[in-house]
Amino acid sequence: MGKVAATDVSSQAGMTIAVIGGGIVGVSCALRLQSLGHQVTVYDRKGLAAEASAGNAGAFAFSEIIPLATPGMMRKAPKWLLDPMGPLSIPPRYALQLTPWLLRFWRASWQDRYAASMSAQAALMGLARAALERQISDTDGESLIQRDGQLQLFEGEKEYRASLPAWEVRGANGTRFDLLQNPDEIAEIQPGLSRQFTHAGYTPDWINTVDPKTWCEYLAGQFLSRGGRIEVQEVKSLSADRSSVALDLGSHKITPDRVVLAAGAWSHHLARGLGDVLPLETERGYNTTLPAGAFDLRTHVTFGSHGFVASKINGGVRIGGAVELGGLKLPPNYKRSEVLLKKACRFMPGLDSSDGTQWMGFRPSMPDSLPVIGASTASDAVIYAFGHGHLGLTQSAATAELVADLIRARPPEIALAAVSPQRF
Ligand SMILES: Cc1cc2nc3c(=O)[nH]c(=O)nc-3n(C[C@H](O)[C@H](O)[C@H](O)COP(=O)(O)OP(=O)(O)OC[C@H]3O[C@@H](n4cnc5c(N)ncnc54)[C@H](O)[C@@H]3O)c2cc1C
Repeated sequence: MGKVAATDVSSQAGMTIAVIGGGIVGVSCALRLQSLGHQVTVYDRKGLAAEASAGNAGAFAFSEIIPLATPGMMRKAPKWLLDPMGPLSIPPRYALQLTPWLLRFWRASWQDRYAASMSAQAALMGLARAALERQISDTDGESLIQRDGQLQLFEGEKEYRASLPAWEVRGANGTRFDLLQNPDEIAEIQPGLSRQFTHAGYTPDWINTVDPKTWCEYLAGQFLSRGGRIEVQEVKSLSADRSSVALDLGSHKITPDRVVLAAGAWSHHLARGLGDVLPLETERGYNTTLPAGAFDLRTHVTFGSHGFVASKINGGVRIGGAVELGGLKLPPNYKRSEVLLKKACRFMPGLDSSDGTQWMGFRPSMPDSLPVIGASTASDAVIYAFGHGHLGLTQSAATAELVADLIRARPPEIALAAVSPQRF
């Protein structure tokens, strides 16, 4: 298919722009594009913050620049996979379908690609931090932000030592941290943890939102109050011809000047209609949210080697994580939430685990841990903004700024080759 150039209306304010997806990425893009004077409508088949953006851990994890596919990780993976309730799982029914993505994931773990992904992630995170602060200030959203830092815990000297190269990399990329080498130092920051956690890294500048769903709804509220529109409507397909882009809404078609595709873990289905076959898979994650009073959580706590975190949500505690490479259709297996909660009770002995609410969400994940941000192959009028994996909340404001740069045909603040849809 030959590429269709976007009709040159980019210098005009007041373009009509359709954003597909009312998660945190779509809403952030909508807000940013609206601030540039465009008429923006968000289309979501379920409504606002209905999927991954509703129940995630609420962390702006700017220090997490290390890709999931690390050199040597394929040697460790079989051990994790042998435990069906371990931090990483692949339901046997989905294994065959997953193979092409896993091959790409394996390739992404090779030293050259790993290093390139990490450096691209670091650049994106630098922008993400600054863009979030701009977004908070533009929307007067500070009351929904918690600036309580993060503790990453290690069990014993060996695990701690193995983490040191990663701290070095984070430090080289501007993350401030303190390394703690006994449980008493850890207890000064977060009392009430099991003393089996002997070492930790503390990142004081880590930020959380009080609740990712509330945050997304708050931003959407700002967008609506400034004249934006949100329609609960499924986009059936996307197409581009020589002069226009069309969205099929089932009952009728619309032809906006520009389209932003931010449909999370479902985006690749729509991109395929424009000739882009993208290796997007979902890493399903699980959690349990406990009400206020469950534990006096003073910072975001990461139990790294167990693959889960404890975050403060609306004064309560959310215990969650896990990676289940199980596609979009299999039913949730809430035993995973239970396993994480049981472990949390051991690691946080005073935790009151009653009255929890379980949740499963679909992380939209690319094999190299980088999102897809760029124009579709078929048309410059369709900009992709999806595939943020574990980091969609963290990178939402930055993605919005980059999408706005692309739509205005301005040079983006960071190089986009590593996140281009055409990189595969
Ligand atoms: C357990 C867990 C913990 C996480 N913790 C964090 C964290 O602490 N920090 C962080 O940065 N990230 C975290 N993430 C990842 C983060 O939640 C996602 O990366 C992010 O929410 C993705 O946002 P999104 O807007 O791209 O997708 P989504 O929030 O999934 O939104 C996509 C939207 O598109 C809509 N849609 C799909 N198809 C169509 C269609 N055809 N027509 C119309 N609408 C459509 C859907 O209804 C949905 O509302 C976590 C994820 C999980 C599962």
